[in-house]
Amino acid sequence: MHNGRFNTHIPFGVRNGRTYAAREVETGLACQCRCPGCGRPLLAKNAGRIRRPHFTHYRVNLECWNAGETAIHWHAKQLIAEKARLMLPAWNGTPIMPNPPRSRDDSGNTHYGHNVGIPGRVVALTSAQIEKRQGDLQPDVSAVDAEGILLIEIRVAHAVGEAKIRKVQSDGARMLEIDLSKVRLMDALDPERFEHLVLGEASNRQWLSHPAAAQAWRDSRDELKHRVQDINRQIAAQRLVEHPRPRRSIRHGTQQIEAVDLANHEPLDQECLDAMAGLRIWHRGLGDGVIRERLVENWPVYDVRFDDGRTRKILLRAGFPDWKFV
Ligand SMILES: [Zn+2]
Repeated sequence: MHNGRFNTHIPFGVRNGRTYAAREVETGLACQCRCPGCGRPLLAKNAGRIRRPHFTHYRVNLECWNAGETAIHWHAKQLIAEKARLMLPAWNGTPIMPNPPRSRDDSGNTHYGHNVGIPGRVVALTSAQIEKRQGDLQPDVSAVDAEGILLIEIRVAHAVGEAKIRKVQSDGARMLEIDLSKVRLMDALDPERFEHLVLGEASNRQWLSHPAAAQAWRDSRDELKHRVQDINRQIAAQRLVEHPRPRRSIRHGTQQIEAVDLANHEPLDQECLDAMAGLRIWHRGLGDGVIRERLVENWPVYDVRFDDGRTRKILLRAGFPDWKFV
C-alpha cells in the first residue's frame, strides 16, 4: 500500500504536534519537521526544480515503514478538525438492509417498501476533536454537527472491526468511515487534491452506523410486511373462489377435524376459530361469500366478503341455522 516511494516522498511532516505540507515550511532541515512514522528529522524538498514538494528522512531510515500511512492519517484528522466541514456519505441501505425493503407475496410477486435513502451532503462541524476518548471507544475524530455527535474513522491501513461497528450501532451513535487506503502518492503530495479527498469527496466514505436511517428502514420494512400480509389474505380468498369446497383439516388434540366440521365442533378453541378464515360460506340473506379473518379474540366474529362485493362482520356460531359452509 503506502510503502516504497511513500518513505522517500513523505507527504506531511510534524512540528509541535501539527502536520505541515512541504510547501508550507522552510527548505531542508530548517523546516524543523519530524517524520510522523519514526519521529526522526526530515528534510523539506521544496526548492529548485522540485515539482512536487515533499519530505524525506534526513538520514535514510530503513526501519521506518509507515511514514506515508501515518502522515496521511494524521493530516486527514487535522484537516477535519481545522476546516470544520465534511462531506457526509449517502445512506442507501446495507447488505442486510436492502433499500428499498422488498418482500414476495404468496403468488411470487415482489413488493417494495418506500425508499429511505439519505443523500450525501456537506455539513458544518460545530466541534471536532482528534482521538478523544468516548467511553470504550477512541474514534479518530469526534465531531458534532447539527444532528449531534458524529464519530469519524479514517481508513488508511486497517478497516474498522466488526465488533467496534456493532458496539457503535448498539450505542445508537452515528459513525462514518473515510477510506484513504487507495490514495496515491501524487494525491498526497497535492495539498488541494488531498484536502478534497478528505473533506469533499463523496465516493470514498460510507456510514458504518446511522441509527436514524436504520430505524426509518425498519419502519418501511414493517409497513411493507403488513401490506404483504393483506395481499396474501386476498390471494388466499381468491384461491378459494377459484377452488371452492377446499378440503382443509386441522389437528385438534388427537383428533383430525375436517374443515366442514369445524363449525359444529365444540368447544371451539383458538386454533379452530382461526382455521375458519379462508373458507366459503352461504348466509341466509347475504348469499355466498368468503370468511376473511377473525376479528375478536375468543369469539367467532369474522369479516366476511360476499360475492356481490359487500363485506360484513358476522357472528358465525356453531349450530346457528342462518349460515353453513358450502
Ligand atoms: Zn520515519
